[in-house]
Amino acid sequence: MKLSFNGADRGVTGSCHMVEAGGLRILIDCGLYQGGRELDEENEEPFGFDPRDIDVVLLTHAHLDHCGRLPLLAKRGFKGEIISTSASAELARLVMVDAANLQAEDARFHAKKMRNHFRRADVKPPLYSLIDALNAASHFGRVAHYGRRIELSDTLTATFVDAGHILGSASVLLEEKNGATKRILFSGDLGNPHGILLAEPPPPPEVDNVVMETTYGDRNHKDVDPSVGEFYTAVTEAFQRGGNVVIPTFAIERAQELLFVICKGMVENHLPPQTQVFLDSPMAISVTEIMARNLDALKPEIADAIRRGYDPFDFQGVNMVREHKQSQLVNEIKRGAIIMAGSGMCTGGRIRHHLLQNLPREESSVVFVGFAAGGTLARRIIDGADVVTIFGERVPVKAKVHTINGFSAHAGRDQLLEWHAATKAARTILVHGEESSMASFGDALKGTSVDMPRLHDTIEL
Ligand SMILES: [Zn+2]
Repeated sequence: MKLSFNGADRGVTGSCHMVEAGGLRILIDCGLYQGGRELDEENEEPFGFDPRDIDVVLLTHAHLDHCGRLPLLAKRGFKGEIISTSASAELARLVMVDAANLQAEDARFHAKKMRNHFRRADVKPPLYSLIDALNAASHFGRVAHYGRRIELSDTLTATFVDAGHILGSASVLLEEKNGATKRILFSGDLGNPHGILLAEPPPPPEVDNVVMETTYGDRNHKDVDPSVGEFYTAVTEAFQRGGNVVIPTFAIERAQELLFVICKGMVENHLPPQTQVFLDSPMAISVTEIMARNLDALKPEIADAIRRGYDPFDFQGVNMVREHKQSQLVNEIKRGAIIMAGSGMCTGGRIRHHLLQNLPREESSVVFVGFAAGGTLARRIIDGADVVTIFGERVPVKAKVHTINGFSAHAGRDQLLEWHAATKAARTILVHGEESSMASFGDALKGTSVDMPRLHDTIEL
């Protein structure tokens, strides 16, 4: 078995690991690099392998940094099968289409800027088109069910194990029978077992080798409950100042968690009953609908409540904003609104319009509830920039900025350590983390050898 690393190596985005085993070339994820223009260029680089040689992609989950280069893979000649859970396949299709749209939007914006400033129109085309995204979606084949083996070749099987990270997310176990059985587990992204919506996943299987994420390898999250309290306070104070609350929102999971928390807050009188909530993201609205079709993934008490007709994603005061015109009208609301829009790291999407309106207003608040990679607009605001640039305009940051980190869909350091201990792995390969986080986590591991591969490194097992 041979591994090679083609993304998310000493970084948190662009997940893409290749396994050569059982006579096959397999990719675990094929994600996009995110965070600033320099990373855009990394996306365009050759993969480090020939996409035509890949037989199977096993997709751990549908976040863009795990599935976002699939359209490029297919565009460059991949002809194989993509295997994932059914929820991941549904979500990945949305995520890839959304990415293609955002790239087209970005390309148009930059073309306009180039024409205005330099009177030149020779700008970079998008990484891939909507057709490329739909083409990639057509490669989804067999559906993975948690805990059920899938035969990839005579000597190799894959088993998807619930990772509790987002709807449909999985760790992937590969078992190769070549004399003795070799077992390797790819963690994918691991969830926060104390999350708000998803049912708690089972412990991971015992294996020889593990390839594991270290996003929060150096720190624990705050608990969810105090974070929810902090959120209610942030909203109430902004409303008292006469402003709005703008929340850059990841469409998958975070938007639905926030709707649940807001609904609960209104029922329990932590928030005013007349609070107006705008989910200004066609993508997040679609994800909410997909979640409502996958109730078994939710905590049993939430699923039961929904089955009995108490829908925490669709309550009085919620406005699902798909139409662009309606989104522009939200811009005119000056007070008493919670506005959720994507993208979560503010690198694209409608959130930038709401930031343009609300960042210069002392009355408003911007509440960050998710991870923000270095180099993104979200990170600059969180790090305390006085002025940021949006659509080429310099925008003063006068709004109150809150960062509430207990909502994370990622396991914190102690949960990662606990997960690792349960695998009993003798060899551990760390990926998907900033270098400092990875190093700190590696130091804490006991009874296992630790590797931290760099881009395009290979490891023979
Ligand atoms: Zn993820």
